[in-house]
Amino acid sequence: MSPPLNPKRTLAELKELRKLTGDENGAQRVAFTPTWLKAREFLRAQVAGLPLEIHNDAAGNTWFTLRGKSERSLLMGGHIDSVPNGGWLDGCLNVFAGAEVLRRIHAQYHGKPPVTVRLVDWADEEGARFGKSLFGSSACSGNLDMNEARGLVDKQGIKLSDALENVGIDFERVKDSGLELQSAAAYLELHIEQGPVLLDLDLPLGAVLGTFGVERHAITFHGQAAHSGSTPMNRRRDAFLAAAKMSQEIYQIAERSGNGVCTIGSCTTKPGIVTSVVEECRITLDQRHLEAAQLATMLVEARTASEQFAKEGNVKVSWERIWQIAPRPFNDELIALCDEAIRETCGQSHRLPSGPLHDAAEVAATGIPTVMMFVQSLHGISHNKIEDTREDHLELCVTAFDRLAEKTIHWITSRE
Ligand SMILES: [Zn+2]
Repeated sequence: MSPPLNPKRTLAELKELRKLTGDENGAQRVAFTPTWLKAREFLRAQVAGLPLEIHNDAAGNTWFTLRGKSERSLLMGGHIDSVPNGGWLDGCLNVFAGAEVLRRIHAQYHGKPPVTVRLVDWADEEGARFGKSLFGSSACSGNLDMNEARGLVDKQGIKLSDALENVGIDFERVKDSGLELQSAAAYLELHIEQGPVLLDLDLPLGAVLGTFGVERHAITFHGQAAHSGSTPMNRRRDAFLAAAKMSQEIYQIAERSGNGVCTIGSCTTKPGIVTSVVEECRITLDQRHLEAAQLATMLVEARTASEQFAKEGNVKVSWERIWQIAPRPFNDELIALCDEAIRETCGQSHRLPSGPLHDAAEVAATGIPTVMMFVQSLHGISHNKIEDTREDHLELCVTAFDRLAEKTIHWITSRE
């Protein structure tokens, strides 16, 4: 008899999927395209031998349900969609690891686990086509902004609602998918890290503390244009000088915050010519932190600094919010179980926050206890065909994730 959990099978399935749905430029499983549908068909074929109930919900998320003794359910989630020219692991790793965990649970409990176990393949996590990520999970969590989504069009001018209709989804009903979460007791998601933290620590796996909150602002300094030859240095109202001081300041702000990050991602100047002092300088500031209070402090500090630099340079400053999202901390007890599962699998664990958003953030927002596990990314890179993870690490992550699933089943039953 073959052993119940076979991480090598997950690896083989991921390679097969890459062959089926990728090309020389990378993965091409963009949501709502024929290649995406093909990937989903492949997934269904892989689990055809299990007695699962399979259906698509009102938002196009696919649910694979193994009924247990209790209605209370353990959810595992991932996304088979990719960005165009994407990597081979982002999203689909958990879908296939989840399938392997379902096989193990089915074998161990002779088809009837203590709780119901469900794998979900979220629809359009990446938002590659319509510029709005976490579509399926935010419809399910109820956070999807329907007015905003109603106006979304792709590059060809096709409306999101029409693209959805094409694959049998009624846009106006997508939030009915929220019914799926009714008996959910816990949510687990395995993902590649997409950053260099575990790589630099030389550790295969980490327990994720939550997803960062984000504050995104445009900061504009208003000075005065003046001739670069005739204006003495002490008479200038130089908007760029004030903005430039911010670039060093944000490193201090980030350092004081603990594990927050700050980025000035763009800078534009007016009049923007070589012979004039800068009259107007607009920079964008992206700040992220796992704790809401720290994020708020980072924002206040940046504002205060900008006002001080404006005053020093005799210029004015104005702020405009571009976007914001609250931090989504994961469940403490599940983080501890995740740590334990990792330590049992490879000796050492590490706790880290997630910079990128994930479907898990939407599930956590509904109050369902949630945790994610990260596996090391080579090069610390994803959304790129060079995205990769060592094969032994991929096998380890399936084993550790399966342990986490088992621990979570016991955690759910102990709370009933
Ligand atoms: Zn992903």
